[in-house]
Amino acid sequence: MSNILVYALHHEGAINKNSLGAISTASKLAAELGGEVHVALVGEDISDDVAGSVGKYGAAKALRVNAPAGVAQPVVDALDTIASAGDYGYAIFGGGLLGFEAGAGLAARRGGGIAVEITGLRVDGGQLVAERPILGDSSISEIKFKGFGVVVGRLNAFEVVESGSPVAVEDVAVSLSDASGKVSVVTRGEQRGADVNIEDANVLITGGRGLGKPENFSLADDLAKAFGGNSAVAATRAAVDAGWYPYAGQIGQTGKTVAPKLYLGLGVSGAIQHKVGMQSAENIVAINKDSNAPIFEFADLGVVGDLHTITPALTEAIKAKKG
Ligand code: FAD
Repeated sequence: MSNILVYALHHEGAINKNSLGAISTASKLAAELGGEVHVALVGEDISDDVAGSVGKYGAAKALRVNAPAGVAQPVVDALDTIASAGDYGYAIFGGGLLGFEAGAGLAARRGGGIAVEITGLRVDGGQLVAERPILGDSSISEIKFKGFGVVVGRLNAFEVVESGSPVAVEDVAVSLSDASGKVSVVTRGEQRGADVNIEDANVLITGGRGLGKPENFSLADDLAKAFGGNSAVAATRAAVDAGWYPYAGQIGQTGKTVAPKLYLGLGVSGAIQHKVGMQSAENIVAINKDSNAPIFEFADLGVVGDLHTITPALTEAIKAKKG
């Protein structure tokens, strides 16, 4: 049971970065386990080029399954069929919601175990050991599996490393279970702000839970527009988790690390997990109604007050100054 099966999520001809990280990590581990990495791709129009490209990250096989993409159940059917026919000890999913759903389904199907939010993997005594941060990331728990093991990574936990060349693609026939026909993707749309590259912005206006509701991100949008140039809007995890802003705009330990010339926080408390992603900003300005908010301990300029009155006034002042 030395091979590792990896699921690769893809969209419009591009394989998801978290999946590439999972393939890269699995290829290192498989070498230590004396096995290979086989990558399953599930979808209706996956080209040879896209499927075969998984070889560049260390996969020995690209297994293409013609089934609906973007929903968990066909992925469970596909991976279960492949795992039943081969010598697989583990399946690995990169970070992302489909991994949580499909990984859990696969573990249940195969009577195996599952470990989620994994940030590190290593081989010890011929067995995979998964590392999972616990207690607010202050400790790491180590998980071993009895029987088949399914690992779901934390977003951005696995590094993408190129280590090989494209491989030939094998088509695998899978008979889909009844459950596979019960859910389908109706439409796919871009989330607001998902295209913003916050890592490149000079000015970052960051919205926190203090904004109160998603519509109030317009205060951040207006302020960013007033600055103009290379300005963008970002968010804390609390705002992202509440569904107010897309994950692509999240700063922090489980988001992006940024170093703009100006970081301006609107209703951001300044939790350590946020701070680690923005502390290198050249100038940190915070607007918060609580004078004891932690962000004031490391802000260059702190404004104590209600963001709902201060932000529009600031936006108007900047517009006036720019003429
Ligand atoms: P809150 O902490 O709720 O702060 C809201 C602030 O708004 C308060 O300080 C309040 O005084 C102020 N406020 C409210 N109303 C107003 C008003 N009208 N005017 C002015 N101010 C107002 N967080 C991240 O950001 N990024 C991460 O990557 C991240 N990763 C994490 C990973 C782990 C493992 C864990 C455990 C946590 C992580 N967090 C992360 C969460 C983090 O601990 C905080 O919960 C989060 O940063 C808080 O977001 P916030 O500042 O928007 O909300």
